[in-house]
Amino acid sequence: MGKLDDRVIIVTGAARGQGEQEARLFAAEGAKVVVADVLDSQGEALVEEIGADAGVRDGKGGALYVHLDVGREEDWQAAVATAKDAFGKVDGLVNNAGILRFNELLATPLAEFQQIIQVNQIGCFLGIRTVAPEIADAGGGTIVNTASYAALTGMAYVGAYAATKHAVLGLTRVAALELASRRIRVNALCPGAVDTAMTNPAQLDPGADPEAARGAVAELYRKLVPMGRIGTPQEIAALALFLTGEDSSYITGQPFVVDGGWLAGVSVL
Ligand code: NAD
Repeated sequence: MGKLDDRVIIVTGAARGQGEQEARLFAAEGAKVVVADVLDSQGEALVEEIGADAGVRDGKGGALYVHLDVGREEDWQAAVATAKDAFGKVDGLVNNAGILRFNELLATPLAEFQQIIQVNQIGCFLGIRTVAPEIADAGGGTIVNTASYAALTGMAYVGAYAATKHAVLGLTRVAALELASRRIRVNALCPGAVDTAMTNPAQLDPGADPEAARGAVAELYRKLVPMGRIGTPQEIAALALFLTGEDSSYITGQPFVVDGGWLAGVSVL
């Protein structure tokens, strides 16, 4: 028995990073996963790999790719229609897609601020609004929104990002209240620093030495994080699995911090 047998779950931003690991883990736990992203060739390659993965139980787990820009309402409608055609229902959603830009607040152009809102905040809202009725029709299920440690504290030079992640937490709480009677649980992931292209863009630069960049990032978080290291996307996927499966059956409306102790407080030594 997998923890997600018979579930059909859309994961946005799943072509790489945390979403990729969530898609892999969910499929290995028996779910049919709709890998949604704007990175079509990476998403399609991942779906092929998941399909061929020996960890996916015979005929149970599986995956399909859909092009979904989370800020576009029509993309959401098409993605849900494709998922229902393929798998008959949708009963889970992980709103994972997100973008980060570094800028001083006073130097942030309006267009940049709006772009971040469009993806991180409106994307999450559209996901909830489009998918929740399908989950209710399927008899209930789960929504996991990816917020951030920057949803719970300030972080200089990522003002627009932090504002959207605070908003994602607000949306999570309101959605949990409004959707509980429809048997939908809604929770939020609040990761600290995680080793993906978002924290280490050199992973995407074919000219850069990714190991050298990884070393610099690792050194930074060795100093900053009480547990002395950056998190892995697999560690975030494990929490997403907990919040999507029955192990969290009485939990809704909550933020879950996974950050190696970063938010626990300050240390004087
Ligand atoms: P990532 O950049 O590797 O992955 C983000 C994914 O989202 C990519 O596949 C990207 O193509 C996709 N995406 C971007 N815009 C999109 C759009 N408009 N529509 C659909 N997909 C889109 O980064 P990641 O670390 O895996 O980030 C995943 C989530 O975790 C994000 O919401 C991010 O804000 C959050 N987060 C990351 C960290 C971290 O340290 N990496 C910390 C806290 C929270």
